[in-house]
Amino acid sequence: MSKQTHAFQAEVAQLLHLVTHSLYSNQEIFLRELISNASDACDKLRFEALNNTALYEDAPELQVRLSFDKAAKTLHITDNGIGMTAQEAIDHLGTIAKSGTKDFVSKLSGDQKSDAQLIGQFGVGFYSGFIVADKITVETRRAGAAAAEGVRWISGGTGDFEVETITRNERGTSVILHLREEALEYANTWKLKEIVGKYSDHISLPILMEKEEWKDGELIDPSNEEAGRQPGGMVKTGEWETINKASALWTRPKKDISDEQYADFYKQISRDFEAPLTWTHNRVEGSTEYTQLLYIPSKAPQDLWNRDKKAGIKLYVKRVFIMDEAEALMPSYLRFVKGVVDSADLPLNVSRELLQESRDVKAIREGCTKRVLSMLEDLAKHDKAPEASAEVTDVLSEEDKAKLGQYSKFYAEFGAVLKEGLGEDFGNQARLSKLLRFASSTHDTVSVSFADYKARMKEGQDAIYYITADTLAAAKNSPQLEVFKKKGIEVLLMTDRVDEWALNFVHEFDGTPLQSVAKGAFDLGKLQDEEEKKAAEDAAETFKPVLAKLKEALKDKAEDVRVTSRLVDSPACLVVTDDGMSMQLARMLKQAGQ
Ligand code: ADP
Ligand code: MG
Repeated sequence: MSKQTHAFQAEVAQLLHLVTHSLYSNQEIFLRELISNASDACDKLRFEALNNTALYEDAPELQVRLSFDKAAKTLHITDNGIGMTAQEAIDHLGTIAKSGTKDFVSKLSGDQKSDAQLIGQFGVGFYSGFIVADKITVETRRAGAAAAEGVRWISGGTGDFEVETITRNERGTSVILHLREEALEYANTWKLKEIVGKYSDHISLPILMEKEEWKDGELIDPSNEEAGRQPGGMVKTGEWETINKASALWTRPKKDISDEQYADFYKQISRDFEAPLTWTHNRVEGSTEYTQLLYIPSKAPQDLWNRDKKAGIKLYVKRVFIMDEAEALMPSYLRFVKGVVDSADLPLNVSRELLQESRDVKAIREGCTKRVLSMLEDLAKHDKAPEASAEVTDVLSEEDKAKLGQYSKFYAEFGAVLKEGLGEDFGNQARLSKLLRFASSTHDTVSVSFADYKARMKEGQDAIYYITADTLAAAKNSPQLEVFKKKGIEVLLMTDRVDEWALNFVHEFDGTPLQSVAKGAFDLGKLQDEEEKKAAEDAAETFKPVLAKLKEALKDKAEDVRVTSRLVDSPACLVVTDDGMSMQLARMLKQAGQ
């Protein structure tokens, strides 16, 4: 194919305009992005080669090489991974396929400064190269294709790019950055080593650089050593060395991994720029053996409520990357968990379909779920300092101190998703119930557990009372709470949209029934004294004729009209029958157009 010019997709052009016209606080992320592409390309090759070892050609050792040419002002990132065909280069480097980047582009505010900061944090994949380069050349050959089917892709990062066929002996891809004048600092061994150490140490692929050694300058006067030498410099030795740790982090013993390394690894796999809230790392032995490294993010992603959102778990089999977003390894209500599962028992050619059926996978999924729940239970246990007095906090271990307030933070971000588990995972329902927190008529913050509530129940109270509403204010001011306020009985206020649905699956906590205060003609039972009972009965009698009239007048609208003891100040309120759909749910369905 002779040289062809193609236009970038409009979004790419928009992105490139921003990338090339802004200053970055965090320029160096370009290297992380390009190395991660190189590493993905090697993962893809390894995966395809499972069924076709010929793809390795004569270079089975997958690696990334970094090199630069100071005089030519270029920086090369070369991998021997899967490579690209001409069509793939046109498609993958000319359009944005990744939904994350698309979302990102759609969110650009037009304010260069804040937009540029976003790029610095997230990275924009391949296009990050244009942060430091005013021209990028990509030379590539797809594994298995003939040398004559190599491809050269060139772009100056404006509206278009060129593609032509070349001969390329080596399989894989070289990305050649033509560095901008202001970015020449990246043509430097130390600089590159530093950035790799920061972002790409855990890439399980060796990253190589050519070794350099010091060479003294020539003698100024060969006949007189005393006259001194020309300035010396570093020269390349032709020998390549691995500059990253290149070991999969999760395979190393816990004690050898620092918190910072754990956090860096999280950022690498999750593309989150904030540190995780917490994590758990274990080797599980037994009938199914695997390693799990699971993280809870500090912040919920924007698409958390998308039910199609993919699980955040990467599956490896004996360190070989198998797939991203392995949904079979984590239940949907834990879709916010990110991490890695490495199993020794699964076949390397396992497919998504096979995963769904595998008994080992089921065991792994159960194990991962239990781990996450224990991690949350641990945070919940240490969320509040025991009656937070100074002395008590002093005796807390550093580790426990670090957990103070963590569960509340978690719950504010992910509590509502966790509730989906009540209807999804009956086996863990009891454990999940203990993890729930609510606001209540006596506690404004979402901090009351069912157990806390039970501990405060009044003498003679035999149910956990709750009310569901759209907002906390609506719940708190509901007339249905009046009698509870008067009697000093706490009522849980449930304001998450999912509460109504979730509570369909939970009828009691630790032997005490849950009772909606908005349902039916409930009986305050022992909480009502004789006098009150008598008064209620009398009132029912007195109002009989009025009720009959009201019933007649409302016959199409109300199933029944009753005298109630639940009101103190308000004259009337609406309730639903015990088996009826609650008002909250009815409203939700109406909103949803049902
Ligand atoms: P992402 O990596 O998230 O898909 P990028 O913008 O980083 O997004 O890369 C876009 C696509 O270009 C990749 O998905 C891949 O198909 C292709 N690509 C980029 N770099 C390489 C490479 N070194 N080898 C093979 N394909 C690559
Ligand atoms: Mg990428």
